[in-house]
Amino acid sequence: MSGNITFTIIKPTAVSQGYIGPILNKIHQGGFRISAMRMLWLTRGEAEHFYEVHKERPFYTDLVDFMTSGPIVVAILNKENAVEDYRKLIGATDPEKAEEGTIRKEFAKSMQENAVHGSDSDENANIESSFFFSGLQRF
Ligand code: GDP
Repeated sequence: MSGNITFTIIKPTAVSQGYIGPILNKIHQGGFRISAMRMLWLTRGEAEHFYEVHKERPFYTDLVDFMTSGPIVVAILNKENAVEDYRKLIGATDPEKAEEGTIRKEFAKSMQENAVHGSDSDENANIESSFFFSGLQRF
C-alpha cells in the first residue's frame, strides 16, 4: 500500500532566485499538506550522507558542492499516494524533459540545479523525513 508522506527539498538555486513562495504555492495547489518545514544550510557531511546512493556517480562531488552552496528549505508533505503524486508534480530529473506545468519545468535551471528533491519511495520518504525532523517537529 502506498504511504501518505513524502519529503522535499527546495534546492539552493531555487531559494536564491526567490522561488520558495511559488514552489510552495504549487505544492498547495497539488493538494499536499505541509506537516513539517524549515530552512537550513547543509554541511558537507550531511549532503554527502543524504546523497550517499550516488557516491559512485560522476556528478556526486558537483552535486554535494551545489547542495552546500546556500540555504535550502526542507519539508514533509502529506497526501494520499504522496510519493507518486509528488514525483508527477515535480516532473523529470532533467527539466528539459519535464512536462509543462511541473515544478522543475517552471523553476529548474539545469539537470543538477533542478529546483526540488522528491522522495522516490515510501521507504526513502520515511528515512529522509526522519533525517531532518524529530517527532516533535512534525504536525
Ligand atoms: P531525482 O530523484 O529526480 O532527484 O534524481 P536522482 O536521484 O537520479 O538524482 C539526484 C539529483 O542528482 C538530481 O535531482 C540532480 O540534482 C542530480 N543529478 C542527477 N543526474 C545528474 C546528472 O547527470 N548530472 C548532474 N550534474 N546532476 C545530476
